[in-house]
Amino acid sequence: MNESPRAKSAQDSSSLDKPQSNCGIAAVYGSPEASHLVYLALYALQHRGQESSGIVSNDGQRVHRHVGQGLVADVFSGPTILDQLKGSMAIGHNRYSTTGSTLVLNAQPLLFRSKQGPFALSHNGNFTNSGILRSWLEEEGSLFQTTTDTEIVPHLVARSRKPTLTDKIIEALKQISGAYSLVMLSQDRIFAARDPHGVRPLCIGKKDDAYFVVSETCALDLVRAEYIRDVTPGELVEIGPDGIISHRYAEGKEHFSCVFEYIYFARPDSRIFNDNVDKVRRKLGKILALESPVDADIVISVPDSSNTAAVGFSRRSGMKFDLGLIRNHYVGRTFIQPRQKMRDFGVRVKFNTVRGILQNRRVVVVEDSIVRGTTLRQLVQLIRQAGATEVHVRVSSPPIISPCFYGMDFPSKEELIAAQKSVEEIRDFLKCDSLAYLSQEGLMQAVTDSNCGFCSACFTGRYPIPIEDRIGKYQHENEPER
Ligand code: SF4
Repeated sequence: MNESPRAKSAQDSSSLDKPQSNCGIAAVYGSPEASHLVYLALYALQHRGQESSGIVSNDGQRVHRHVGQGLVADVFSGPTILDQLKGSMAIGHNRYSTTGSTLVLNAQPLLFRSKQGPFALSHNGNFTNSGILRSWLEEEGSLFQTTTDTEIVPHLVARSRKPTLTDKIIEALKQISGAYSLVMLSQDRIFAARDPHGVRPLCIGKKDDAYFVVSETCALDLVRAEYIRDVTPGELVEIGPDGIISHRYAEGKEHFSCVFEYIYFARPDSRIFNDNVDKVRRKLGKILALESPVDADIVISVPDSSNTAAVGFSRRSGMKFDLGLIRNHYVGRTFIQPRQKMRDFGVRVKFNTVRGILQNRRVVVVEDSIVRGTTLRQLVQLIRQAGATEVHVRVSSPPIISPCFYGMDFPSKEELIAAQKSVEEIRDFLKCDSLAYLSQEGLMQAVTDSNCGFCSACFTGRYPIPIEDRIGKYQHENEPER
């Protein structure tokens, strides 16, 4: 789900200098507790979006919607809210955005009413031809209520002259390019779709008579639902009174699943793209240790996202893993930099060092990725101040040199440090003793067991799915490899 214009600005101090996942989505069909189960699933998917959350439910007579700004716990702050979201089917959404003014307007699930009845949808990803489609739809008289690309879907569905809602959705999806996992709710069923290239994850689960569709399997674990299978790329799944019906609307497209889901975005306890995130992340650390060994005393991670790769690095190198950095989990995204002269206050409020572990030690810091490098530079300084004699940085992904147009919120190319500096210049900027990244070959080696194709455009600059809205800006200089 993308905003227009692209929501891109200087990050707030709490973003930890990381790309942000745009959304987590969930749907439940066939339970009188549908909205409560979606709420729990959204809790498990909170890491995929922390700025707004929402649920739409349908009790057969009425459709109910509640959306708001903030974490799931803030938006659904009392049991009465969920009790009012009646019905045996519901869909939900966690959203990330960097803009404030359009936040509630664009909060999902979006809900529309048409001749076919209610139609609600939640979206994870980015349509890459949304600008073209939106201009055309507006010229044809469509009145958009939000600034998200997601709203294109209901407009295309409403315009379709196909006889059934299923056919209308399929016709709409065939006109859309890019990355999307979608869950949709209608008068009597839910739908789920994954783009033909399978960029974002989406899976189906079941518990008793209830079906679930969620971004990651960790959401199924929380509600004790059994994983059935992934929604396959180019598949529209219809779940209604007759159970699951599968419709294939795109065949034979190459798969480009987002490799960054394994590196950073997905939870390590999830299984996505046919493999366990934890296992892949450990392998990233192990391969990194083989590729770029270092003579030091201990391995530490930048918690929490680098923990698993650091364990892998430690196992393969034989060097002890320890907890040299402690993260404060209770700092919300709204932390405001106070007027103080301490330039690293934003980092200090999030991380502190464990002096007893770092003092007089040669330290390897494993980080999963470097975006601007500003946070890591301050962490290196903190680790030295805690008494480390040497600080070596190892990164469990290749250098990020290009932004993402498929559903992740990256800074512009100008702000990506690896797009502007060599590895040695970055080492100098970070003020560490040595710096090494995982190679592109090492990254691909770590994901071979999943047996699917991957996008790694943020590391290579080669975009596998045409970015029709941006032709000329990126496509010409980075012609995709096919
Ligand atoms: S560009 Fe990077 S973050 Fe975006 S889909 Fe490709 S691998 Fe994932």
